[in-house]
Amino acid sequence: MKPGTPTLETLSTIRADGSRKFVHPSDVHGPFTTWRRVVALILLVVYVALPWITVNGFPAVFLDVQQRRFHFFGLTLAAQDLWIGFFLVTGLALALFYVTSIFGRIWCGWTCPYTVFLEHLYRRVERWIDGDGPARRRLEDAPWSLSKISRRVFKHAVFIAISAVIAHVFLSYFVSIKSLYGMMRSSPAQHVEAFVIVVSLTGALYFSFSWFREQFCIILCPYGRMQSALTDDNSVVIGYDKKRGEPRGKVTAEKSAGDCVDCRRCVQVCPTGIDIRNGLQLECIGCAACVDACDDIMIKLKRPKGLVRYDSHNGLQGGRTRIIRPGTVFYTVVLLAWAAAFTVAITWISPLRASVVRMGGASFYVDNGVIRNQFQLRVINKRNNASTYRIELAGDVPPALQMTGVDQTITLPPMGEDLKTLVLTLPQPEYQRQFKFRVKVTDVARGDSMETRVMEYLGPDPQAAPAASLNARDFIR
Ligand code: SF4
Ligand code: SF4
Repeated sequence: MKPGTPTLETLSTIRADGSRKFVHPSDVHGPFTTWRRVVALILLVVYVALPWITVNGFPAVFLDVQQRRFHFFGLTLAAQDLWIGFFLVTGLALALFYVTSIFGRIWCGWTCPYTVFLEHLYRRVERWIDGDGPARRRLEDAPWSLSKISRRVFKHAVFIAISAVIAHVFLSYFVSIKSLYGMMRSSPAQHVEAFVIVVSLTGALYFSFSWFREQFCIILCPYGRMQSALTDDNSVVIGYDKKRGEPRGKVTAEKSAGDCVDCRRCVQVCPTGIDIRNGLQLECIGCAACVDACDDIMIKLKRPKGLVRYDSHNGLQGGRTRIIRPGTVFYTVVLLAWAAAFTVAITWISPLRASVVRMGGASFYVDNGVIRNQFQLRVINKRNNASTYRIELAGDVPPALQMTGVDQTITLPPMGEDLKTLVLTLPQPEYQRQFKFRVKVTDVARGDSMETRVMEYLGPDPQAAPAASLNARDFIR
């Protein structure tokens, strides 16, 4: 084995003395690299464009934490609808597990925002300023000189600028582009919280992408830890065809040598510094750089491509890859069940919300022969335009029951909410026993309506001696 070749005994990013060994992957060209760049470019455009695209008067994705309203492509969720987030999170997790069981860590190598930023922004800038992998390794080992200092200062200034741009784009998802522009034109003293968030995020991104880098994927990201539990011998991952490649040797070696010429090109291009010839490892993010690198060597040697390729463990052993197997069938069934549940859950989201709770204090009062129960009624308009609502009582209630404290119609502004004291009065002779009721709120223009949960109307025991002015505490005695 050549000196410096990664093994399974040590981490490729830690030296024998425990210090960090920075990975400087060489540039690589090939179909997978080209397609990864296209995918990354599309994703970068999507990340930046989403807060600019308007659907139903709001940005396509706008997490308006201040107003507790969350807009997703025209669907507006109020804080009370956040239970739907359970479906979104579980759905994303299930989809990720499903894809991983079939294609390994394809998410990490192709679409994870961390990889997109690191490989297609920061490392591209680094290549542009410091050169390809060997040049960067030489520069790192070189003594400090004016040229090295100026390159370092320039590179880190660009890194900080990119981090600041990403932090601003991130903030625009929470405050909208218009507000962000207003903030950028005003003094930080007028929006201290947003300013602190952007500065902190810029610092965190700069630290992560300029220094921490692949360590995030290797040490911090929990998804990488689960890889071995989610894949099996039929999962299509990136692997080295040992049967074909070994025994590795130089091009000039005898004919009996395998196809691997031990050029280490697959190691040099790896962004996590591993040697895929040692088998699938936790550090492999499935970026396919080693596939393009090795195919390039094979083409030059006029040997068949695919010594390093997308294949399953079974496929690399010369067997057959089974896509349909118990694990993938299970994930398919669970995902279909999830999709059905999610569809039903979405239909449950009402553009109007109403709730009623009994007010603190006594459960009822009796004043001059009239029983009084007091409640708090909350009505929330989840539409993006003003709405007028009719308030009425529903259920088998005595005709003499009166509703006071709340107008029969209320108008709420877009995304507005109102809290009213609802007083229900009933002449004492009309009260036979406690009874149940609901409050029905109807959107006058559209006809949408909602009934609150069942509440109980309470009063004194009709057999008890009447009193001029009593409340529930008098009856407890
Ligand atoms: S690039 Fe291909 S030929 Fe070169 S060391 Fe890696 S597997 Fe062997
Ligand atoms: S081993 Fe290959 S696919 Fe895995 S991270 Fe390294 S270059 Fe990418």
